Amino acid sequence: MAKQTIPGATSIVAEKLKTLGLHTQADLVLHLPLRFEDETRITPIAAAVPGAAAQFDATVTSCEIAYRPKRQLVCRIEDATGELMLRFLNFYPSQQKALQPGARLRVFGEVRGGFWGSEIIHPRFRVLRGDEPLPTALTPVYPTTAGLGQAALRKLIARALDEVDLAETLPAELVARLKLQDFATSVRALHAPPPGLAADALALHQNPYWRRIAFDELLAQQLSLRQAYAARRARRAPALAGDGALTQRLLAQLPFKLTAAQQRVWCEIERDLAQPHPMQRLLQGDVGSGKTVVAALAGLRAVEAGHQAALMAPTEILAEQHHRKLADWLAPLGIEVAWLTGSLRKKDKQAIVAKVGAGRTALVVGTHALIEENVEFARLGLAIVDEQHRFGVRQRLALKQKGIEAHQLAMSATPIPRTLAMSYYADLDVSVIDELPPGRTPVMTKLVSAVRRPEIVGKVRELCRAGRQAYWVCPLIEESEALQLKTAQETFEHLTAELPGLKIGLVHGRLKPNEKVAVMAGFVKNEIQLLVATTVIEVGVDVPNASLMVIEHAERFGLAQLHQLRGRVGRGAAESACILLYEQPLSESARARLKIIYENTDGFEIARQDLRLRGPGEFVGARQSGLPLLRFADLEDAALVGAARSAAQTLLIDHPEAAACHLARWLAGRAELLKA
Ligand code: ADP
Ligand code: MG
Repeated sequence: MAKQTIPGATSIVAEKLKTLGLHTQADLVLHLPLRFEDETRITPIAAAVPGAAAQFDATVTSCEIAYRPKRQLVCRIEDATGELMLRFLNFYPSQQKALQPGARLRVFGEVRGGFWGSEIIHPRFRVLRGDEPLPTALTPVYPTTAGLGQAALRKLIARALDEVDLAETLPAELVARLKLQDFATSVRALHAPPPGLAADALALHQNPYWRRIAFDELLAQQLSLRQAYAARRARRAPALAGDGALTQRLLAQLPFKLTAAQQRVWCEIERDLAQPHPMQRLLQGDVGSGKTVVAALAGLRAVEAGHQAALMAPTEILAEQHHRKLADWLAPLGIEVAWLTGSLRKKDKQAIVAKVGAGRTALVVGTHALIEENVEFARLGLAIVDEQHRFGVRQRLALKQKGIEAHQLAMSATPIPRTLAMSYYADLDVSVIDELPPGRTPVMTKLVSAVRRPEIVGKVRELCRAGRQAYWVCPLIEESEALQLKTAQETFEHLTAELPGLKIGLVHGRLKPNEKVAVMAGFVKNEIQLLVATTVIEVGVDVPNASLMVIEHAERFGLAQLHQLRGRVGRGAAESACILLYEQPLSESARARLKIIYENTDGFEIARQDLRLRGPGEFVGARQSGLPLLRFADLEDAALVGAARSAAQTLLIDHPEAAACHLARWLAGRAELLKA
């Protein structure tokens, strides 16, 4: 066990270090610089490049307080080649005193072409006494926090590098095969690299020392996830091997044939369910790819095998849709699908809970009420969670705390890019539906400036008169729910005034669940032609006759959200369109997002680009597995992710002691996080 204190750190400093996630000396070793400053060289003033940081040895020629118009300290220095100005907008009397004419200085800073000639604002400087040798290594600049200076951090880290055991944890054979640098050499080089090493971040991340650390980090992640995976495989769950009586009948009476992709994932799930340990599988498929029927098959398999299955959705609207669909499909098979949500009347709820508890109902669909309320299943075999990213940690824990060793199938339409799935999700098995059912017409996406809104309103009128239906998504106001509600209300009122004769409905998050369900039912039956909605319709809503979606203030939405919203149309045979209204001027990032959504229809490609724009934090945030985010590895480097993945496999089998050492080094200070 690593020591939990850091020698040389006062308790105040230790607190600051903690906020940086640094609990032990071993953590300090892995606290790598953001970039470097080159103090190994002196640049002649005449050779200074504007915009670049450099170091000068020069003599002060004058130093005075000027008013330009603010009070500031202006100091001129010169060397044999030229002259330079140093400007201090804030300064101490001691600084003024040190900068006496004649003083010899070593100055570091970024030179800029100022109004009064070349200058450095707030340079770092030191008065030279005698011949002071230059450092032989680059100076690291570390990520830090207010009140913890670079100098203090450098000292603590240098000490840690001396005191921590930096021995190689990996077998020599692996190091050689992957052409990795040695660990000790790598950390030393990264904290104090020789002058030749490229100093900027981009080049830094490509050097072999960084690659080694990135590999180690990925390996630690893979090892801990594989351990979690192995622990799960060691637990027992009922083997759900049905005779196919129900699943075959469902397949026979569906109005469509499964796509090849649906068939493939169903085989994967079927095989897992037959195993006597809990499945934990993520079923991914773009919006509209047909995950629900796969869920229905899995649920039926549990029932065939004499167990119960539960299907949970994050919203009442979505749960209700699933219930309706499943009930339709399964009624001919004589299977009743129970319905349980928080909004049921108490008596009804109790009746269902009793039935579930007695095992008299085999399939239950509902919201998280299913796991949160006092529902005890008689023999739960499979828990299916739709739109798993929408579920919080709390709900997943609830399932765990019930001690339910059921198989778990999570479904998500937010595609997780491949490298992300290979890293953060390595403890899950993943199935992907990578094909849409035939007969879909692609949705045409249009970017339209909000000044053309009246024209769009006209389009909606035309379309609805022709018997089709449309969604109008209200501007997103994330900061305030009250304001969001007001905006939705106003949007509804405006559109009602602008479109007399159309039947318009409004659905938002604050409606009572049964009100929401009633509005949605009206839309399904085409009693409502235009549905004004907030993002409550983001997931799962399936009304094939709706062929137009208008999204107001599209620039405020995230990429995944836009993709999900757009997926609500194009579900029937009619030509469909999604109109993204945007308000000018667009910010740089909004423009980038809209461009991506405009140019791409494939959810995986959109997710990949999203990952590039925002980094993995957003994707993984909802998982909150307690696993730290990757700090050094770049998931774009699929080759390195793959190498770490296969190395983890062989290490756990052939060199378990090396795996343990490696994990100890990487997770020493984070042990408590991992227990979460
Ligand atoms: P999602 O993956 O977004 O949850 P759904 O399961 O809601 O997608 O399916 C979208 C629509 O496609 C539904 O109306 C569903 O009945 C239909 N569907 C599913 N699979 C097929 C298929 N193989 N062929 C034709 N239609 C299908
Ligand atoms: Mg769905």
